[in-house]
Amino acid sequence: MTSTPDERAAQLAAGLAGVRHRLAGAAAAAGRPVDELTLVVVTKTYPAGDVDLLGRLGVRDVGESRHPEAADKRAQVDVELPLRWHFVGALQTNKARAVAGYADVVHSVDRPRLVEALSAGVTRRGRSVECFVQVDLDEEAQPGRSGCSPRAVPELADALAQAPGLVLAGVMAVAPRGADPRAAFGRLAAVAADLRVRHPSARAISAGMSADLEAAVEAGATHVRIGRAVLGERPPTG
Ligand SMILES: *Cc1c(COP(=O)(O)O)cnc(C)c1O
Repeated sequence: MTSTPDERAAQLAAGLAGVRHRLAGAAAAAGRPVDELTLVVVTKTYPAGDVDLLGRLGVRDVGESRHPEAADKRAQVDVELPLRWHFVGALQTNKARAVAGYADVVHSVDRPRLVEALSAGVTRRGRSVECFVQVDLDEEAQPGRSGCSPRAVPELADALAQAPGLVLAGVMAVAPRGADPRAAFGRLAAVAADLRVRHPSARAISAGMSADLEAAVEAGATHVRIGRAVLGERPPTG
């Protein structure tokens, strides 16, 4: 299943066109301008060469979910490409300082210790990072899952807003498996509306993946995180 760079570029261009078409349709259906949507192409498990091709196809935002895979890839990608790197996966506290060295946006802040570690990591490098509070939308939340409870959002948002080097962007969620994504993203929209009362500039909502981007756009998502619909099915990881 190896393809030449030209063939791969054509596949990625077709995947991107398909996703942009879906986004335009979802925005029109929701009565929203499509230019308020940021497409983050999630490149986890795919090689750095795919990121280069995506950058040449006009992609500006790429997402990764694991450290050090993300760091290695960023080091290999053409530095001339104006890419913003989004860290979207569960983040261990002991990796947060390293991730703060290269991520432009972190979508998965779900506990106070991460706020401290990210802030320490960015300030010592003189950088700043935009952060989303990740919310667990599963009503029967299990311990150990990613995301904080909706009740914990205000405190975490306050901590982020005050932390040196961190900018509170908004909220992020993954639709719970097996649940209706419309209902889940509706709950996220309510959490986002509450957040804006205290933090009016935290307007971003990161929601929607390949399977449910339409439901996310309908519920007000500003950032969609799309992998498979652009890059193809990921090879199974061991
Ligand atoms: C992998 C991943 C995505 C993209 O998922 P697809 O189903 O490939 O579109 C989005 N968000 C997070 C947090 C992910 O880990």
